[in-house]
Amino acid sequence: MRWFLVGLVALGGCLVPSLGAAAPIRPFSTVLLDPGHGGTDNGGMSRPLSGGRLLEKDLALDTARRVAQLLRARGFHVVMTRTDDRFVDLDERVRVANRLGPGAVAVSIHYNATGDRSIRGAETFFWHADSHGLATRIDRNLEAVVGGSGRGLVRRRLRLTRNPTIPAVLVECAYLTNAREARLVAQPQARERIAQAIADGIVEEARFGDEGIAAVPEIWAPLSRGSEVRKVSKQSRKKRHRKRHVSASIERVDRAKPFLAQAFLAASFVPR
Ligand SMILES: [Zn+2]
Repeated sequence: MRWFLVGLVALGGCLVPSLGAAAPIRPFSTVLLDPGHGGTDNGGMSRPLSGGRLLEKDLALDTARRVAQLLRARGFHVVMTRTDDRFVDLDERVRVANRLGPGAVAVSIHYNATGDRSIRGAETFFWHADSHGLATRIDRNLEAVVGGSGRGLVRRRLRLTRNPTIPAVLVECAYLTNAREARLVAQPQARERIAQAIADGIVEEARFGDEGIAAVPEIWAPLSRGSEVRKVSKQSRKKRHRKRHVSASIERVDRAKPFLAQAFLAASFVPR
């Protein structure tokens, strides 16, 4: 077994489950809301609708503002990585999260896009064990509004899920490339319901912690880096696996670089 683990470290990218139960989430009263993309980085986009194309960066900011308002009304201290249409580097977003320190959680808000227009539904990503409860609660609330994708809650090593030192979750509210969901999220009322679902998940986690949610083991993995994204993008272009949502490419890092130790994940963790 020991040699098997060493082999995984050498070959698979150093993913090894740590021993012991996951630590429960610490109480928090500060929430970092991170609207994805911005400025020159549009993120994903819809096909043209009657009012033009929907840009992910605009919907993410609008939704985050709505979540901020709902959380402030509930007494939370809310910090945002951007409040207007500007580019913010992913590592800077992580630095903002880490400066907040204990007593805070981070929620990154995105809308998804892909070449397959039939794919739809909300997805919520987390990496660390202390983020599982928050991700679960947000995902449950969001799926009740948008509908499930069949993937729902996903454990994936992204810069905004792996690198923050505080619990961190990345939400893909809906698929802009799915006609039904694009029409839905074009409506401000629908974005308000989505914001309410995200806020409800955060409020529930602040109130109940991880109570009633199955613990998952912490998994060690190296920090997620921008250089991996560029490498992955190049490989993906070669394979002609085109995905429209390429500008910040945070969603693709681990999908395109399967670690051997994912076998451990499959054996030890069912994301439901
Ligand atoms: Zn995005």
